[in-house]
Amino acid sequence: MTISQDKTQPRNYGLDFIDPEVFAIIERENQRQKDNIELIASANFISRAVLEATGSILTNKVAEGYPGLRYFSGCENIDELENLAIARAKELFGAAHANLEPYTGSQANHAVYLTVLKPGDRILGMDLDHGGHLSHGAKFNMTGKHYDCHFYQVDPDTQLLDYDVILAQAKDIRPKLIIAGASAYPRTIDFQKFREIADEVGAYLLADIAHISGLVAARLHPSPIPYAHFVTTSTQKTLRGPRSGMILLGKHSAPEFARKIDSAVFPGVQGAVHVHAIAAKAVMLKEAMSASFVNYQRQTIENSQILATDLIERRFRLISGGTDNHLMLIDLSEKGITGKEAEDRLASVRITVNKNMLPYDSQKSTICSGIRLGTSAITTRGFGAEEMHCIAELIDKMLSSEPTAKTIAKVQDEVSRLCHLHPHIDSIYEPDSRKLALESQYQLQS
Ligand SMILES: *Cc1c(COP(=O)(O)O)cnc(C)c1O
Repeated sequence: MTISQDKTQPRNYGLDFIDPEVFAIIERENQRQKDNIELIASANFISRAVLEATGSILTNKVAEGYPGLRYFSGCENIDELENLAIARAKELFGAAHANLEPYTGSQANHAVYLTVLKPGDRILGMDLDHGGHLSHGAKFNMTGKHYDCHFYQVDPDTQLLDYDVILAQAKDIRPKLIIAGASAYPRTIDFQKFREIADEVGAYLLADIAHISGLVAARLHPSPIPYAHFVTTSTQKTLRGPRSGMILLGKHSAPEFARKIDSAVFPGVQGAVHVHAIAAKAVMLKEAMSASFVNYQRQTIENSQILATDLIERRFRLISGGTDNHLMLIDLSEKGITGKEAEDRLASVRITVNKNMLPYDSQKSTICSGIRLGTSAITTRGFGAEEMHCIAELIDKMLSSEPTAKTIAKVQDEVSRLCHLHPHIDSIYEPDSRKLALESQYQLQS
């Protein structure tokens, strides 16, 4: 019997037939995504086009190196693809150089460190509890082990970045690299100020825009490209692409660093290219150039500000008093509930949030005094102002006092109503249901 006749290893059947167990888990996850209000600030829903590229046969292709400089043959299509993605990234962000190969935002950061730092060199990044990211020097991250990491914090009263204080700290510490960028900072970041600080102390500046890259692409947050020596980002957050990363260089830094950053990504910290992810990023970039993407980001920020205002009206304390972007941080200490409790309580009514450390938090990181909310995912789903008012009310009902069984049931009903009102994910991911929806529309019209 030849391999192709071996029916115990059929190559041409679908997932439901080959592996019903995994298929069922994915189905359940699909259902969970439909039935939950997703408020995790780093979450989003990719388009069907990005999903198709991610799940394409491109996974089969092995390619190492860069277009025109590969270590395997048969790369003509892949070269064209990567060049297309690079050209789009440069155009969208006004960058002089783009590297599309990082597997994630964290990997992109490690490539920058490898480019400018030696083990033991000094970094100045944002404190994790004040909004920074693990890959900016946390002691249990590789960065914390390999480099001498120092941290700036937000002002204790305003909870804003105080650039004068950061400058004084930089003069004291004399870091080789300063990192600007955050996972939980609800306000605009002044990258020009950060560059001035970096110049004053002779440091390089890395702008990590993992969270805000979609806003930057839509010109709704000032771009760091004219100021930072390096710009890194994840692509799955506000940018609404695959789970992946990207590095961008501005015109001033390109000649000196373009080649170095490429070799830091490969062979420095990574192996073969995730070709399917490159394709998905190319599609993401094309989508991000459209007017509807700009409208989407505008609506995301508007939703975030409506939700913030409504919560403040309901006596929630917001870190920094509000938000300029897609996310907000809520201090729950005055409500007498921890971040962990709030996360669990909201999960019980299918509202998904994450507990989050607050600046100067007195709780452990497994408990936290706050939660972080973001509007990127629900805005993709079509939620608008009306739904923000509802969500604020639901959060208030669940967190401002211990909810009764009756309240919980009512909130669950309301969550179901909102999810059914915007069954967006269905129409994106299930082509048959989309076709049916369109057909019934036509029938209604005729
Ligand atoms: C999310 C994030 C990253 C990278 O995360 P990945 O999961 O590795 O893509 C890096 N920096 C910041 C500030 C982030 O928020």
